[in-house]
Amino acid sequence: MEHIDTAIIHRFDTRSSRPCEFCRELDPQFPKRRPLDQMVATSRRPVASAHLTEDGYVRHRMLELRQRTSREPVSAA
Ligand SMILES: [Zn+2]
Repeated sequence: MEHIDTAIIHRFDTRSSRPCEFCRELDPQFPKRRPLDQMVATSRRPVASAHLTEDGYVRHRMLELRQRTSREPVSAA
Protein backbone atom coordinates (compact mmCIF):
# COMPACT_ATOMS: atom_id res chain seq x y z
CA MET A 1 0.00 0.00 0.00
CA GLU A 2 1.49 3.28 -1.06
CA HIS A 3 0.13 5.31 1.85
CA ILE A 4 2.16 3.25 4.30
CA ASP A 5 5.65 4.55 4.69
CA THR A 6 7.81 1.47 4.41
CA ALA A 7 10.69 3.32 6.03
CA ILE A 8 8.62 3.47 9.21
CA ILE A 9 8.13 -0.27 9.16
CA HIS A 10 11.84 -0.87 8.70
CA ARG A 11 12.64 1.43 11.58
CA PHE A 12 10.17 -0.37 13.78
CA ASP A 13 11.20 -1.09 17.31
CA THR A 14 9.52 -0.61 20.66
CA ARG A 15 11.20 2.70 21.32
CA SER A 16 9.92 4.38 18.18
CA SER A 17 6.34 3.22 18.44
CA ARG A 18 3.48 3.19 20.90
CA PRO A 19 -0.11 1.96 20.99
CA CYS A 20 -2.52 4.22 19.10
CA GLU A 21 -4.57 6.16 21.67
CA PHE A 22 -7.36 6.75 19.20
CA CYS A 23 -7.81 3.06 18.42
CA ARG A 24 -7.33 2.01 22.02
CA GLU A 25 -10.16 4.26 23.06
CA LEU A 26 -12.61 3.46 20.28
CA ASP A 27 -11.94 -0.11 19.24
CA PRO A 28 -13.30 -2.79 21.59
CA GLN A 29 -11.22 -5.30 19.64
CA PHE A 30 -8.04 -3.36 20.23
CA PRO A 31 -6.45 -5.78 22.74
CA LYS A 32 -7.08 -8.62 20.32
CA ARG A 33 -5.09 -7.03 17.54
CA ARG A 34 -1.64 -8.26 16.74
CA PRO A 35 0.81 -6.05 18.67
CA LEU A 36 2.13 -4.50 15.49
CA ASP A 37 -1.38 -3.58 14.39
CA GLN A 38 -1.83 -1.57 17.59
CA MET A 39 1.23 0.55 17.09
CA VAL A 40 1.78 3.97 15.60
CA ALA A 41 5.08 5.74 15.10
CA THR A 42 5.87 7.90 18.13
CA SER A 43 7.07 10.79 16.04
CA ARG A 44 3.62 11.29 14.61
CA ARG A 45 0.14 12.14 15.79
CA PRO A 46 -2.19 9.16 16.27
CA VAL A 47 -3.64 9.25 12.77
CA ALA A 48 -4.35 6.37 10.44
CA SER A 49 -1.26 6.92 8.32
CA ALA A 50 0.97 6.73 11.40
CA HIS A 51 0.10 3.06 11.80
CA LEU A 52 2.88 0.64 11.10
CA THR A 53 0.77 -1.97 9.38
CA GLU A 54 -1.86 -1.98 6.70
CA ASP A 55 -4.31 -3.71 9.01
CA GLY A 56 -3.79 -1.09 11.68
CA TYR A 57 -4.30 1.64 9.11
CA VAL A 58 -7.55 0.11 7.83
CA ARG A 59 -8.97 -0.43 11.31
CA HIS A 60 -8.13 3.13 12.30
CA ARG A 61 -9.88 4.45 9.17
CA MET A 62 -12.95 2.33 9.94
CA LEU A 63 -13.13 3.81 13.44
CA GLU A 64 -12.80 7.32 12.05
CA LEU A 65 -15.57 6.73 9.55
CA ARG A 66 -17.84 5.15 12.13
CA GLN A 67 -17.25 8.05 14.50
CA ARG A 68 -17.96 10.56 11.75
CA THR A 69 -21.19 8.81 10.79
CA SER A 70 -22.47 8.59 14.34
CA ARG A 71 -21.75 12.26 14.90
CA GLU A 72 -23.79 13.36 11.94
CA PRO A 73 -27.24 14.57 12.93
CA VAL A 74 -29.93 12.26 11.71
CA SER A 75 -32.30 14.29 9.65
CA ALA A 76 -35.59 12.66 10.45
CA ALA A 77 -38.12 13.66 7.87
ZN1 LIG B 1 -5.09 4.00 15.32
